[in-house]
Amino acid sequence: MNFFKREFLINSLKENAEWDLLVIGGGATGLGIAVDATNRGFKTLLVEREDFAKGTSSRSTKLVHGGVRYLAQGNIRLVTEALREREFLLKNAPHLTKNESFVIPCFSWFTGLYYAAGLKIYDWLSGRKSIGKSKLINRKEVEKRLPTIKRDPLICGVLYHDGVFDDARLALNLAQTAIDKGAVVLNYFKLVSLIKNEARKICGATLNDEEKGETYEVKAKVVVNATGVFADDILKMDQPSSKKMIRPSQGIHLVVDKSFLQSEDAIMIPETEDGRVLFAIPWNDHVLLGTTDTPLRTASIEPVALEKEIDFVLNTARAFLSKPPQRSDVLSVFAGLRPLAASDNDSAKTKEISRSHKIIISESGLVSVIGGKWTTYRKMAEDALDNIFSARLLQFKDGSTENLKLHGYTIDEDGNGLSIYGSDKKEIEKLEQQNQYYSQTLSGETSVTVAQVIWAVRNEMARTVEDFLARRTRVLFTDAKLAVDLAPKVADVMMRELGQNEEWKAVQLCKFRLLAKNYFLNDLT
Ligand SMILES: Cc1cc2nc3c(=O)[nH]c(=O)nc-3n(C[C@H](O)[C@H](O)[C@H](O)COP(=O)(O)OP(=O)(O)OC[C@H]3O[C@@H](n4cnc5c(N)ncnc54)[C@H](O)[C@@H]3O)c2cc1C
Repeated sequence: MNFFKREFLINSLKENAEWDLLVIGGGATGLGIAVDATNRGFKTLLVEREDFAKGTSSRSTKLVHGGVRYLAQGNIRLVTEALREREFLLKNAPHLTKNESFVIPCFSWFTGLYYAAGLKIYDWLSGRKSIGKSKLINRKEVEKRLPTIKRDPLICGVLYHDGVFDDARLALNLAQTAIDKGAVVLNYFKLVSLIKNEARKICGATLNDEEKGETYEVKAKVVVNATGVFADDILKMDQPSSKKMIRPSQGIHLVVDKSFLQSEDAIMIPETEDGRVLFAIPWNDHVLLGTTDTPLRTASIEPVALEKEIDFVLNTARAFLSKPPQRSDVLSVFAGLRPLAASDNDSAKTKEISRSHKIIISESGLVSVIGGKWTTYRKMAEDALDNIFSARLLQFKDGSTENLKLHGYTIDEDGNGLSIYGSDKKEIEKLEQQNQYYSQTLSGETSVTVAQVIWAVRNEMARTVEDFLARRTRVLFTDAKLAVDLAPKVADVMMRELGQNEEWKAVQLCKFRLLAKNYFLNDLT
């Protein structure tokens, strides 16, 4: 029995009379809650109206971190909590996470000593969870570690450690972990309305299968709103007069060739013109540059980078790199929206709004979990369940996820391109050996094979060309032009595997090309 098949999961949905929890939203927050609840033995259903992590959760800076910036803001509680969570994530998903060295280039001894002292506090806060000690390093060492750093007027640097990860793959592995434990987790399933009983308490919801257009009414003891920047829509669905709880803030990243960094170390630029930090991180054989913090009035599932944000990232990177990146060097640009929990002070700048999460239980019993960070997804889930127990919406059940190994967990990896699949890697290799066609790469310019497409359809619930190129692999995020070039082959393999027809393929290609335009700074020819 393949538990990751949509048909199997939809049948389980039909068979279940009442769910303990219905979670809305398949990003970091919702998936974390689904894992926690299922791990405690609750009957859990999660619905995501797009693909898993299509929203903010595939568009992060990929840091598993306490947040050096939050330390500078004096938010010790958030930093300590996140450093603790960093340890759990590195331990429970070693195939998707990595201990990364960061270098802060400094242009005076004073700033060097200032950051070195700050990072000693960071080390100290991580306590026995430290993943490497920070230290002040001299100019020669900075130049050795970062061959492309501007040498003038470099004086010294500070070296410290944090984690990096693959966000969309982690989301998928969380969905798989929940399913492994008995949850029903569905992508392309939308919550369209809430159902209430005579006492005006929520007791279920109407869901729509976005692929087939079929509607389902499900019963649930608790409904959790984990819809990120869309949380206000669900709150309004519940109570039209509810006040706005989310302030979306956009952050963008540019991806350039690895020759711009030529290092395994990342760069952290602590002070930029807009007062934020900027990172240059080696990621998926490329370099990720970002990010920004631009308040927006409205939220969209496919946000687009603003020209001023692109200029800001390029200009800041140029000030630090000896090979200055130009617009034409950008292989991909992606934007994401932080679901910041609105503070009482509405005029607060978004970069000053706390990254802590908020849990709200409405009169109807709707549980909304908003704000937070990817790094703390596990703790957010635990807090959500604790709040559900305190409000007596469900009866307490024990079950900690602190030591729960996530789907794909494996430690002995040789770090080749398939290592992100963790323990599933050997199954993909088996597929490649089964059939010569499966072992072929999608083109001469990539190591991605036909077997990976087949695996994604059969075992990772990939339904569209975008699912595969944007989130099962990260090609769209590292090289948008290459993603467009690979799309016809991906569409062809998926069409056969999903039992679709040429019309489906044509629509997929058209949609994907249109979408990819947002990720490409130059014209798509
Ligand atoms: C630029 C940027 C950089 C970041 N960098 C980091 C970082 O380095 N480290 C870190 O720890 N954190 C980082 N974060 C924060 C982190 O990415 C977010 O906190 C996290 O991804 C939010 O997840 P979420 O599940 O709340 O929201 P989302 O991922 O947006 O998920 C919500 C989902 O709900 C779905 N949905 C909405 N309405 C419905 C409905 N009616 N029915 C069904 N589904 C619905 C949406 O389709 C969406 O997929 C960053 C964020 C941004 C924007």
